[in-house]
Amino acid sequence: MTSTPDTPRTDLLSLVPGELDTVLQRHFAERRQPSFRATQVREWVHDHGVSDFQAMTNLPQGERDALEARFFVEAPEAAQVSVSTDGTTKHLWQMRDGELIESVLIPTSDRLTLCLSSQAGCAMGCTFCATGWGGFGRQLTAGEIVAQFREAGRWARERGRGPITNVVFMGMGEPLANRKAVHPALTILNSGLGLGARRITVSTVGVVPGIRELASRPEQFGLAISLHSPEEALRAELIPLEKRHPLPELMDAIREFRDAGGRRITFEYTMIRDRNDAPELAPKLARMALDVGAFVNLIPFNPIPYQDWLPSRPDRVEHFRATLEEAGVAAAVREPRGRDIDAACGQLRANALVQLEDGKARRPRARAATSASGAEASAPSSASFSASSDG
Ligand code: SF4
Repeated sequence: MTSTPDTPRTDLLSLVPGELDTVLQRHFAERRQPSFRATQVREWVHDHGVSDFQAMTNLPQGERDALEARFFVEAPEAAQVSVSTDGTTKHLWQMRDGELIESVLIPTSDRLTLCLSSQAGCAMGCTFCATGWGGFGRQLTAGEIVAQFREAGRWARERGRGPITNVVFMGMGEPLANRKAVHPALTILNSGLGLGARRITVSTVGVVPGIRELASRPEQFGLAISLHSPEEALRAELIPLEKRHPLPELMDAIREFRDAGGRRITFEYTMIRDRNDAPELAPKLARMALDVGAFVNLIPFNPIPYQDWLPSRPDRVEHFRATLEEAGVAAAVREPRGRDIDAACGQLRANALVQLEDGKARRPRARAATSASGAEASAPSSASFSASSDG
């Protein structure tokens, strides 16, 4: 591979470990350099989290320059950092082309979970979701997905908040609608950066072929299903994808995932007042959870600015929890995190779009004029994120 000024540079962070070694070894062989140079670069990228080739100080200057001409390591800028009073921290990342994506760090007593994005925006159009409101921007690359882990992890470590212990693909986008990037990203996080498969959960609204692909992988990644209703007609009102992959088909795929063995399955159930919280739905939900051995997270809905729905009343949430418990289903009520920082998936981006376009929702094509604050956000309380897949 000979680089010319017109050859697009390759993102080393998008390559799974085997590919990374191959590409680097070929590069250094062409330059008549010893093969251990490839190991040196991989260690800088994967073990030390370095993105700047000039910081790879055990490489000769000429090799750093040659790497820079041919490769890059994805490292998005933080356009905004919002820290909640509960410690939840949301980053709004600005990508090279100006796209905005979000990730959320959620600290609990024994872990630091990162909720990351797999797409800029989302095309699924779920009616309760701020990301759906913001529309679809584009697919993220594997490097852009992994970079959220590296950069958010760097931010946390520099502030003594420890390493990220868990990852959930529960931010912006439908991960299984971007399998071309999500599969390598899973491999890089797991075998490249050393995060255990059982500490990584992929969340989906029900992309059945994607669930089957995930089941066929040998690693024991967790699966979270955004269920939100045990009935097809009601679910279709909340999640348009239900019409393409109805609940019976979805449950078949989840059973296949369960039968692959040793993997965690979670049902996410956002509870919206007078929408999906009728008492008669609770036993149906319990039967579905028992069928596949799923843990159930009950998440009271927090209103978003573009939707006038309300959270379920506490007694209704408690009714669901008790019904599940009596049926033998493990369940928890997840209080939303980051209430004071607009931590709902997609909300910072949606707000930024509004600011950028003076009230008209349109995707940005240039770097935003937002600034990194690193301080408490002053945005009004609205929807928020639930650290929900750690059941
Ligand atoms: S809930 Fe998930 S799949 Fe649905 S619109 Fe939001 S990000 Fe997309």
